[in-house]
Amino acid sequence: MINNISSKATISSTRIQSTSSDSVLSTSDLHNKKKQVKKTPLSPPIIVCGIKDFVSVRAELIDIVGNENLSVKASKNSLKIQPSNPNAYRAIIHFLKDAEAEFHTYQMKEDKALRIVLRNLYPTTTPIEIKTVLEVSGFSVSSVTNVLSKIAKIKLPLFFVDLEPAGINNNIFELNYLLNRKIKIEEPYKQRTIVQCQNCQEYGHSKAYCSYPSRCVRCASQHLTSTCTKPRDTPAKCALCNDDHPANYRGCQIHTNL
Ligand SMILES: [Zn+2]
Ligand SMILES: [Zn+2]
Ligand SMILES: [Zn+2]
Repeated sequence: MINNISSKATISSTRIQSTSSDSVLSTSDLHNKKKQVKKTPLSPPIIVCGIKDFVSVRAELIDIVGNENLSVKASKNSLKIQPSNPNAYRAIIHFLKDAEAEFHTYQMKEDKALRIVLRNLYPTTTPIEIKTVLEVSGFSVSSVTNVLSKIAKIKLPLFFVDLEPAGINNNIFELNYLLNRKIKIEEPYKQRTIVQCQNCQEYGHSKAYCSYPSRCVRCASQHLTSTCTKPRDTPAKCALCNDDHPANYRGCQIHTNL
């Protein structure tokens, strides 16, 4: 199946150069193939705190999305909800917000733009050529950049490709051929950084996905940092460890122990 798709991608790119009606046919053919391999993306988990009655919350959630669309795991202080698809995810988030629940979650995979590294095409290939052939295969390309060598600034057989957010994006890792060349698609090297929430100061999620009470980065009180009235000459207080530094101090024992 995977091999089929990649060879089709090469075929469709060469056909485009011949006649336009041909390329329309081969593109829709490719789309059909893509649909068959596309897996339903798993939605991010939702972690809810401060629930006293796990059983009735679970029953309410099942009422809303159906038993088959979520799994729920309770631990001592929190409830971890794993929706099985994006619709269930959205419905549960909606319910929790209405109920003013304390929870956090993560960005949905399909909402994320994707950057990939494309290897082994000739450096003389133009970004436009790459963009065009990928769009024929159903990807929405926002930009293609040729990578230059650090010192001599020579074009390398290496391109960064940025894709618009779309459920199809991960299929790009299944491509083996592009523009009649055997290629390699990789994830870019990522630096290990852990996000810190600017609303509650906890590590591991961001404020856009946080529904916990606000905690100030400077004084640890329950207010947004922007509304803090702590005078500059009084010591900071860390919302995570109670020491006298701001909660985003990288030397905080909570951060160094991550
Ligand atoms: Zn938070
Ligand atoms: Zn404050
Ligand atoms: Zn601290």
